[in-house]
Amino acid sequence: MLFRRLGLALALCLLLAVCPSSAFCAEPGDFACTGAKIYPSPTDPPIENATLLVHDGKIIAVAPSYRLRNKFPHSAITIDCQGKVIVAGFWNSHVHFTNGWDDVPNTLVATLTAHLQEMLTRWGFTTVWDLGSEPSNTLALRQRVESGEVPGPQILMAGDIFPKNGHPVYLPPEMQLPEAATPQQAAGMARQYLEMGLDGIKLFTGAYMGTKPTVNMSTDIVKAAVDVAHDESKPVFAHTQNRVGTDNALAGGADILAHTIPTEGSFTPEELARMKQQHTALIPTLTLWTTVTQNPQVTDRLVQAGVAELKSFFSEGGTILFGTDVGFISKYDTTEEFEYMGRAMGWRDILASLTTNPSDYFKASTKGRVAIDMDADLVILDADPATDVKNFAKVAYTIRNGRVIYRRH
Ligand SMILES: [Zn+2]
Repeated sequence: MLFRRLGLALALCLLLAVCPSSAFCAEPGDFACTGAKIYPSPTDPPIENATLLVHDGKIIAVAPSYRLRNKFPHSAITIDCQGKVIVAGFWNSHVHFTNGWDDVPNTLVATLTAHLQEMLTRWGFTTVWDLGSEPSNTLALRQRVESGEVPGPQILMAGDIFPKNGHPVYLPPEMQLPEAATPQQAAGMARQYLEMGLDGIKLFTGAYMGTKPTVNMSTDIVKAAVDVAHDESKPVFAHTQNRVGTDNALAGGADILAHTIPTEGSFTPEELARMKQQHTALIPTLTLWTTVTQNPQVTDRLVQAGVAELKSFFSEGGTILFGTDVGFISKYDTTEEFEYMGRAMGWRDILASLTTNPSDYFKASTKGRVAIDMDADLVILDADPATDVKNFAKVAYTIRNGRVIYRRH
């Protein structure tokens, strides 16, 4: 059935009128995209020359245009999507609102909007996981986005816990970090974060100390925080840094590895088996490895090792979640990440890491697919990612809940 809400859709048709594109873009509203190639999901075949109809933030029709031709008038608000490709809104499961995000409560709407566009929405992100920032500041940003004041993505937040004496060298020394010396302290911190309204926990199971040895978090501390989070059905991310940190994260039951670990060269067969058994997910963050050293040979080696780890985990059937660590790194452009991921995975697998994998993993049942009754979280691409994975970065529009939150000018 094309319209589950046929009557509603027809009533909608009478209400729609031609509208200047600038006004349309500034307002939430009902609209149609016509003439597009639509990938409903990473596994479905594309619908060629398709029309998609959005009402009240939801997708109410998606079908070949000839089947909808008489179902809505030519005067409807439309985005002409001839030659464009529509996929579900993207998730970035590893971002930070740190560098350049100070004092959100006193920042102008236009400044916040421009920064969100530059960092996230112009790359198609409609949902992001903030894996560490000043929680009160990011909560303020989330509030301003959710109130409709600032067009932006849905922001999910994880609260950070560090090991005792594990203040990473790349964070300012004056920054106050929550360090857990005991399982009880870790449990207390996790509880506090969840009471603040955060959506998950991020554990530094390995903290990078520069020339000094990495400081790892012990398994019992990991497990204490994981138990608190899992009691509330919240996920636990782990920044692992090295093999010990990875193994402690897995032994303690962390859900998601926030990075590959290229300095170790590869995951061991035991790690891969355990990750598969525990349904651990992996965020590759391959572009990050181009930012940690000035030495091009070392950079190449790190990227190659990261790609190899991604490939080994993916070929074991592991769940990949797209994520770049953007906001910590200042490379906002996602082209490079897609190119690296494309060395290990097909374009449909990359689309899954951007859409269905995170929506399934984080139980967001109304997101991740272009289908009737789903949230109208959409990316309209200028070119087909099936022909080149870098086309995932060629975003013409980003739409969240039926509202255009980015439009390429
Ligand atoms: Zn990060």
